[in-house]
Amino acid sequence: MIIQKQKPIEEILESLAESRSVFIAGCADCATACKTGGEEELAAMKVRLEAAGKTVTGTAIYDTACLSGEVRKTTAAHQAEVDAADAILVLCCGSGVQTIGDYLDAKAVVPGVDPLFIGQVIRAGKYEEKCQACGKCILALTDGICPVTRCAKGLLNGPCGGYKNGKCEVDPEKECAWVQIYERLKARGHLDKLRKLQEAQDYSALHRPRRLVWDRPKKA
Ligand code: SF4
Ligand code: SF4
Repeated sequence: MIIQKQKPIEEILESLAESRSVFIAGCADCATACKTGGEEELAAMKVRLEAAGKTVTGTAIYDTACLSGEVRKTTAAHQAEVDAADAILVLCCGSGVQTIGDYLDAKAVVPGVDPLFIGQVIRAGKYEEKCQACGKCILALTDGICPVTRCAKGLLNGPCGGYKNGKCEVDPEKECAWVQIYERLKARGHLDKLRKLQEAQDYSALHRPRRLVWDRPKKA
């Protein structure tokens, strides 16, 4: 899940300063779970834009706004409303904004959301970072707790020694990831995993922009 928060309305209006009419797009996935671009948020944004003197030509929730095929299909279903707008305001992550933007070359495409991190939704309004997409996942060695992300120093071979009462020395409000890893391995009888020395992560996989292309199986 891409955890995100909506931009302040002042910033959104500044980006829309040259646009008199706006089409608002949201996403049924992460943006709905984070309450940035679901049905409720689109309806509320419509009211705010109209109060600021804008004409809202229409709204649409994309099932998944970063899926090219889905964006093509949903945009086509709202073509008249999209064509009538000077700008598209997209209330979802940057990947969704760019996917929608790729299909609307001639339109201003404006982001209404700041994406923050890949995380877990504990409940609506409570989100925690869990993964940095480092390119070489080592969760098998820690029974599912990521030290790259959840240890403040990203340590791979045990704690730094500064933790106190299970809390991190960098931020005492947070759990020490390595205490959590130790407790989980112990509870599951997997403490032997700690004997394996981890080599430094190979961050060459992080060269940006990253891209993954699968060969499609050939048809018989
Ligand atoms: S090791 Fe951590 S940051 Fe890397 S892919 Fe796994 S969960 Fe994500
Ligand atoms: S106290 Fe624990 S979580 Fe904090 S930096 Fe040290 S090992 Fe990492």
